[in-house]
Amino acid sequence: MSKLLTLENVTAFYGASQALFGVNLEIGKGEVVALMGRNGMGKTTTIRTICRMLPHSSGRIFFAGQNLEKMPSHKAARLGLGLVPEGRRCFSGLTVHENLLAASRDGYWTFQQVSELFPRLSERRDQFANTLSGGEQQMLSIGRALMTNPKLLILDEATEGLAPVVRQEIWSAMFKLKDEGLSILVIDKSLRELTAIADHCAILEKGATCWSGITADLVPDITDRYLGV
Ligand code: ATP
Repeated sequence: MSKLLTLENVTAFYGASQALFGVNLEIGKGEVVALMGRNGMGKTTTIRTICRMLPHSSGRIFFAGQNLEKMPSHKAARLGLGLVPEGRRCFSGLTVHENLLAASRDGYWTFQQVSELFPRLSERRDQFANTLSGGEQQMLSIGRALMTNPKLLILDEATEGLAPVVRQEIWSAMFKLKDEGLSILVIDKSLRELTAIADHCAILEKGATCWSGITADLVPDITDRYLGV
């Protein structure tokens, strides 16, 4: 199967400080991959390099058949990278509907489709984003990424800080997206949910991939070694 995203030995720096030391990652079309690792191991930095918010200094990144080296972030986004960043960024002074329309690109995902996935967003269609609850803002942030009609949806801690019942709504939406065949790269703290949804997992340790494989092979020995506290 041809890969949608491939990272080969990617390294990256924040100024003089090296954060990635050799990240390897592959995502096939229609696959869900969980990017795991303890705090500070380089998960968000890896996503930043994929989305070209941080250049990589060596290694290679291919997405949708294109080498992303030297590609600015807006062009990479147009290739089909749909990022749901940490901290639910939306336009606070725009309504739910305006936020979604502002992100819109041609394709399957429209306001109607997003409303079916998250009925709460259609109920709050004309409400300003800054008056939404945390969970609703997260739904809006996911909706905005979907409105770009991405080939790959990237979720960085999308359930962080939300009430359990709202988390469950977000996970249900992710399962629906997986069933619809969307490719997803997901970072989250809930190992239980991650292993339920992911086809493959990759674990980072000190900025490098230390384990990757199918989720069924992610045995307690490995999770204890690399993810245990
Ligand atoms: P968390 O689960 O805590 O979000 P993470 O696995 O996403 O962690 P990163 O945020 O990618 O980890 O951080 C990787 C390393 O890069 C850490 O050592 C962190 O301190 C460092 N780092 C992250 N952002 C910056 C920055 N803007 N400037 C300098 N160093 C940074």
